[in-house]
Amino acid sequence: MEITFLGACGTVTGSKDLVAAGAKQVLVDCGLFQGFKPLRLRNWEPFPVDPKIIDAVILTHAHIDHSGYLPLLVKQGFAGRVYCTSATRDLCEILLPDSGHLQEEEAEYANRRGYSKHKPALPLYTEQDAEVSLRQFSPIEFEHDFSLGDKLTLRFSPSGHILGSAFVQLRDAQTSLLFSGDLGRPHDLLMKEPAVMRRADYLVIESTYGNRRHDPSDPETALAEVINRTAGRGGVVLIPAFAVGRAQTLLYHIHRLKAEQAIPNIPVFLDSPMAVDATHIFCQHLGEHRLPPPECQGMCRTAHYINTVEESKALSRCRIPVIVIAASGMATGGRVLHHLKVFAPDPRNTILFAGFQAGGTRGAAMLNGAESVKIHGEHVPVRAEIVALDNLSAHADSAEILAWLDHFEAPPRETFITHGEPAAADALRSLIEKELGWHCRVPEHGETVALR
Ligand SMILES: [Zn+2]
Repeated sequence: MEITFLGACGTVTGSKDLVAAGAKQVLVDCGLFQGFKPLRLRNWEPFPVDPKIIDAVILTHAHIDHSGYLPLLVKQGFAGRVYCTSATRDLCEILLPDSGHLQEEEAEYANRRGYSKHKPALPLYTEQDAEVSLRQFSPIEFEHDFSLGDKLTLRFSPSGHILGSAFVQLRDAQTSLLFSGDLGRPHDLLMKEPAVMRRADYLVIESTYGNRRHDPSDPETALAEVINRTAGRGGVVLIPAFAVGRAQTLLYHIHRLKAEQAIPNIPVFLDSPMAVDATHIFCQHLGEHRLPPPECQGMCRTAHYINTVEESKALSRCRIPVIVIAASGMATGGRVLHHLKVFAPDPRNTILFAGFQAGGTRGAAMLNGAESVKIHGEHVPVRAEIVALDNLSAHADSAEILAWLDHFEAPPRETFITHGEPAAADALRSLIEKELGWHCRVPEHGETVALR
């Protein structure tokens, strides 16, 4: 086997690893780059190999930084199957067309306002391109050996990160290669703990929080404090959230806080048709997460669902305390941008970030104390309270990663550390070397390594 790292090196986005095994070429994850402009520009570069020679794509999970390049790969000639779990397929059916739609909207907006340097601004791919790519999906069950041909076997095991998320194990006659994808946490409120994995000849592990420990305090208490404080001054709590995963975790926490009367019974709006659909998909995959049916229904009923753009705009005129959850999670696009324009300048409001904010995103800028952010070519002053609730993260922190690795019966021959900003990846490398004595490497973008 041979692996080429085509994304998520020195960054947490753009996950793509090409594995060559015998005559087979498979791409594990097919994510979009997000964040800093030089990274985003990589999405526009020609794909490093001809997509026509790739036999299959395997997705660890549905998040756009792991799946969002797929419509473009198909557009460039990839004609093979896309293997993933059935929940990942269900989520991609909403996420990918939405991603295409957002890109069309942004291009159209840029053309209308004339703020793009490109004339005309074009979308990376369209909603239609995304719909076309969905025809190539083939779901596979968890914990089931699936032959990709040429003695290459694929197996998914639950990784506890979001609904449908999986570790990907590839095996041929000589060697085995395990991808952590995004590693979940042992005590997540919604997701079951990641499967225990005991061996792999080679391991590719994520390092989003490789240099950090999550705040050990209860996120529900912290969330209640933020909501109570903001409602007390008559403000709006705006939560940019990933439509899949984080939005459901937040809804469930709010459902519980309301049931305990720990927060006032103020209206909650889920302003993302995609998050609404994802919430329903959550309830269709009972058994793959921790919520029993009544709790799942309770979570679904917690919010008013906003579907149309008109309803979304009306929400921006809201002058009473409410909670608004809107995508995207790093404020890189989506309806949350329109809400930020209205809510960020008012000091009574709170903008609550509930997930990792990649460098170069508006989310990271606001958390770093930016006095204004640029949205649709306009400078929007930021006077609202900015809060980060790190402990809602769906990624294992450094100690949790180490605890998961500790189940291995023998060290992999080599452990590749990806999906982290440079400091995080390097910190995890030295931690694993020091604590476990394993041989680690932080690969460079485009690097190829022979696995034998
Ligand atoms: Zn993810």
